[in-house]
Amino acid sequence: MNITKSEFKEKYLKLLQTVRGKNINDATKLDKYLALCSLVKEYIYTNWVKTNEEYIKEGKKQVHYFSMEFLMGKLLVSNLINLGIKDICERGLSELGINLSEIEEVEVDMGLGNGGLGRLAACFLDSMASIDVPGHGCGIRYNYGLFKQRIVDGYQVECPDNWLENENIWEIKRKDESVEVKFYGNVIMKYENNRLSFVHENYESVIATPYDIPIVGYHNSRVNTLRLWSASAEDEFDYELFSSGEYVKAFENKHKADAICNLLYPNDNCEQGRILRLKQEYFFVCAGIKSIVRNYKKTGNSIYDFSKYVSIHINDTHPALAVPELMRVLVDEENLDWDEAWEITKNTISYTNHTIMSEALEKWNVELFQSLLPRIYMIVEEINRRFCKELIENHHLDQNKIRNMSIISDNLVKMANLAIVGSYSVNGVAQLHTEILKKKELNDFYSIYPYKFNNKTNGITHRRWLLKCNPLLSELITETIGSEWIYDPMRLIDLLKYKDDKSLQERIYNIKRKNKDNLARIIKDKYSIDIDTDSIFDVHIKRIHEYKRQTLNIFHVMYLYNILLENPNLDITPRTFIFSGKAAPGYYMAKKIIKLINSVAYKINNDKRIKDKIKVVFMENYGVSLAENIIPASNVSEQISTTTKEASGTGNMKFMMNGAITIATLDGANIEIAKAIGEENIVLFGLKAKEFYELSNSGKYNSKDIYNNDIRINKVISSLIDGSLVDDRNEFYSIYDSVLYGNDPYFVLKDFEAYSKAHQQIDVLYKNQSKWSEMSLVNIAHSGIFSSDNTIYEYAKGIWNVDHS
Ligand SMILES: *Cc1c(COP(=O)(O)O)cnc(C)c1O
Repeated sequence: MNITKSEFKEKYLKLLQTVRGKNINDATKLDKYLALCSLVKEYIYTNWVKTNEEYIKEGKKQVHYFSMEFLMGKLLVSNLINLGIKDICERGLSELGINLSEIEEVEVDMGLGNGGLGRLAACFLDSMASIDVPGHGCGIRYNYGLFKQRIVDGYQVECPDNWLENENIWEIKRKDESVEVKFYGNVIMKYENNRLSFVHENYESVIATPYDIPIVGYHNSRVNTLRLWSASAEDEFDYELFSSGEYVKAFENKHKADAICNLLYPNDNCEQGRILRLKQEYFFVCAGIKSIVRNYKKTGNSIYDFSKYVSIHINDTHPALAVPELMRVLVDEENLDWDEAWEITKNTISYTNHTIMSEALEKWNVELFQSLLPRIYMIVEEINRRFCKELIENHHLDQNKIRNMSIISDNLVKMANLAIVGSYSVNGVAQLHTEILKKKELNDFYSIYPYKFNNKTNGITHRRWLLKCNPLLSELITETIGSEWIYDPMRLIDLLKYKDDKSLQERIYNIKRKNKDNLARIIKDKYSIDIDTDSIFDVHIKRIHEYKRQTLNIFHVMYLYNILLENPNLDITPRTFIFSGKAAPGYYMAKKIIKLINSVAYKINNDKRIKDKIKVVFMENYGVSLAENIIPASNVSEQISTTTKEASGTGNMKFMMNGAITIATLDGANIEIAKAIGEENIVLFGLKAKEFYELSNSGKYNSKDIYNNDIRINKVISSLIDGSLVDDRNEFYSIYDSVLYGNDPYFVLKDFEAYSKAHQQIDVLYKNQSKWSEMSLVNIAHSGIFSSDNTIYEYAKGIWNVDHS
């Protein structure tokens, strides 16, 4: 993209007038932001049209990434970077007296996701566009994204995230491409022209309207599409009811339809089985497939070749209704035979499994499912009937196995089983996770469909998680090894040549220092807490979950506090423990953990006796933008989940890419990070997967033994209920109870000793600044393999069979 600085300034000032009706002197930040977006959109739209023309002309296979969540963050600066005009704009604006980062603040994070799964979808969109994969997102345009978190008196308080309040400048509403989605009603069978047909009657009609957001590739003029669907009623209000004075009732249809896209369910790794959720799932899957089939038919290609030109990828089981819905379209609307339709469906859909935790597996009550989606239920039953027949006749399986694998059993529709049976590829998201799927959780399926299973380790876009969020480090890298790494992140490995370069080590250290200053300022402004920028910034940011073990971290902080009280002159490097993360509003334990962290923080930060050697900060409202501020300022990355529980993790990769040293259990992608950088450049601790299974299965673990025998642990756990943290001794009883009387389901006490040793190791390592910077550099150098560009290459070659650059 070419534009000179003076052209930019002229254009920008003009746009302030034509778009916002302001001149620069009376323009607000919002005006300045929107004018800049207009300028950027002009370029993007031109490329968008060209990209779409090419896709039609070249007839290339298209990938559609179906996901309930897209956690995009802010788009302005990322778009400027990918267009290649960030520097020019920044300098032009600065000459006009405008600071780019100040107007970036105006943009509201697009928070249409809970955590890792939604952020993965966003990274994948960026990578698909950047490496020339014709790939698009399909999801829901929630009116309210994930709640905003405020901390009041140490407790989480949820506030609505009304992100559309201003307007979403990036989207285009395409009312003329709306489609109808049908719920409830009944299905009647007709026999006509020698063919059975199915007619859906008395249904509730909902209109799905697409909003398209351009997804800009890095320096390649490509613009893909994120299509988000919004729901509305066919008849906004009932005229008769309105006329007869039933004003509220007259709008019932409208409210029912609006509810579908009103809010994102705020649970991470946990399903609720609510009917509105099932409605959301069918809503966007049905609309997405309708628009794909409609566009496909315009190409003139035969419906029998559908899977040659279209790939539908489902991000977890939330969009698994794509299987019966595509069957419905092919059989009921395109009049294909069942077997023909089944071949096409199976060859079109691929599925990513994100978790093995039972509470996250989607299962729907049969009556609920059948009443909401009567025709879809019939199709699922038929898929299942044929599948079970195959299990008996071809695989000779016993009743237990069949029951376990059946799509419908125990009066439940099992979405993972549906996704596996109806797709050609099932992938896990890290090596360990995929092995567990194959050998344990999905072993029955693996035995009959070994060819479907494969691994695709998650990744992150290095453009947002290094180039955008850490400009100082990015410049230093470019100065050292050239700018090729931006196109080809594997080139980061060239940094290894400078591993022993003392001046480079020093510059890395100084950049980290500057980023820490920046974060310290944010913390001071917001929370009035002074933190020492010479201290180790030790960071634990992610959704609050028992399996992610924020408890292990905070118990260890409590332990450090205790030993500092005993010996205030203890020689440890000062530490700042930074936490951030949201708890699902209905997750009682997670909310207690937040309160515990805040109570410990309050106690420690105000205790003069420990001479500021440790501080604890809980930063509220964790999200993409906050992560972009925290991660470049981190020295230590806490990745301490109970082993086997974190399928991959992606936060771990972001920290490594920004030169933090990881303290980690051997779980998820931590294992692959350790392999890449060598065990001398990461601090590993805790149970290994094999030991975890052995201990769990033996039934021999007894957390009370540890509590009784380890005085340090005893003191920490006792202080949960002895009134020393908060007046109300019941406040943390549930945490105490889970660890002691619930026998510590996440092995927090079991891993405590090893964790404490690992922290001592960190302390020793950090004292040798040059060594630490060298480790930092090795981490950065090896982070290229965790770029989502690599992950997408693997998906493109190994699953989708599509072109890429
Ligand atoms: C990367 C990211 C996550 C995932 O973090 P994990 O540590 O892998 O759980 C969650 N939320 C946000 C905002 C992220 O950027």
